[in-house]
Amino acid sequence: MRIFYRYLRRRIYRALHFLDVVGKYAIRTRLGAILICNLVHSYRPLICTNCLSNHGLRLNAERVAVPLALSCPHCGERDTKKLTHHLIQHLARQFFERGSMWRPKQGYGDAPLIAFNEMQPREGDYEGDESLRDDVALLSEKGRIRFFHYAPNLWMLGEVEPLKDLINPCTRMAVIDRVLEEYPERILPHDTILYRLRIDPRDPDDYLEYDSPPIKHVGDGRLDSKDLPVLYCSDDIDTCIHECRVTAEDDLYLAALIPRSNLRLLDLTVILPNQDGETEFESLDTAINMLFHAARHSYEISRDISRAANQAGFDGLLYPSFFNKVRTWQMPNETIYGRSLRRIPQFHEHIKAGTFSNVALFGRPIREDILKVVSVNRLVIHTVSYDFRFGPTPKQIDPNPTYMSQAAAPNIFTDFLSELSQICKKFFCKIRAGRFK
Ligand SMILES: [Zn+2]
Repeated sequence: MRIFYRYLRRRIYRALHFLDVVGKYAIRTRLGAILICNLVHSYRPLICTNCLSNHGLRLNAERVAVPLALSCPHCGERDTKKLTHHLIQHLARQFFERGSMWRPKQGYGDAPLIAFNEMQPREGDYEGDESLRDDVALLSEKGRIRFFHYAPNLWMLGEVEPLKDLINPCTRMAVIDRVLEEYPERILPHDTILYRLRIDPRDPDDYLEYDSPPIKHVGDGRLDSKDLPVLYCSDDIDTCIHECRVTAEDDLYLAALIPRSNLRLLDLTVILPNQDGETEFESLDTAINMLFHAARHSYEISRDISRAANQAGFDGLLYPSFFNKVRTWQMPNETIYGRSLRRIPQFHEHIKAGTFSNVALFGRPIREDILKVVSVNRLVIHTVSYDFRFGPTPKQIDPNPTYMSQAAAPNIFTDFLSELSQICKKFFCKIRAGRFK
């Protein structure tokens, strides 16, 4: 019976795919477009790209709209791409939600500043500035949606208890102990090929150039510190290129490495199972995910995790790439109705598909004969292409964006105070722990 259902499902998928391909060509002809729009009402055009006035919004619309050979019911244009109800919502999600994503500087997490829903069409509190007002009104009316200023759950902006405990040096070690306990061990088999990219090495043919950096350069990365050098590599070449932030002018060399024996890694890329009654505010999984998607201000914490994993006997760490979001168009902090997708098992495959991982190996694995250099090649960046979309500017989001300007404006005095309080906190923690030297 199961085989029959599988067969039937495969047939249905093929038939739908065939209809989809035929439909794409048929809508380009007037007869085909009339036929399809009468058969499938959701294919009826509501507006076209010509109806929109904001330049960036219009360029986004050009990418999502379809070449339907019917006149636009709003402006009457025929030779323009058209937007259906579904495509208007897709465009709104792309331009307004994704395009208004905001990340607090020196903070964690992110959240959109504008959102939309179908609850009370045309009754939102977001209108846009003068350059967007007509477009917002048109999309609201035709897409039967309302736009509103989004007030995110505070966990989305880093109000996560384990994360706050990690930020506080006094409570950090207790959370790191939980990390070592709750995240699984992953065995990296001895035949795995890992890649290590170097920019402008002094002697590209010297295999030791591909080991962890010399001591004078150690302590500046996400996981290495003066007492623990780390070799950063990946089983994916694209990840290496992204992580090294290369430019076309760099002289690049890529080493292929294999472990001489199986390696024990602490796997920080997994999605931890939900614990009973635990919310996003209490989730260790959310905390670690935000930590590895944060910028340089988070390095002090990840270096402590790295040291603890080394002391616990691991050979290294497997951790999520900071560049996941630019490689997959997947946000690290995606939500649905305010809930993190990471906490809904049905979305786990979707999240895993968008997670690229890095490998960090402790010590100097090439010198210590833990890794063998299989080959070294020059890497030439052949072409680079950027995939981009547009979003609203702060003024287009809110003509009086006090919260954004406060966050964006550098304030030397508050920065100094926050730095000073962190130093004092660390000082007293060390005294309390009897670790002050
Ligand atoms: Zn139009």
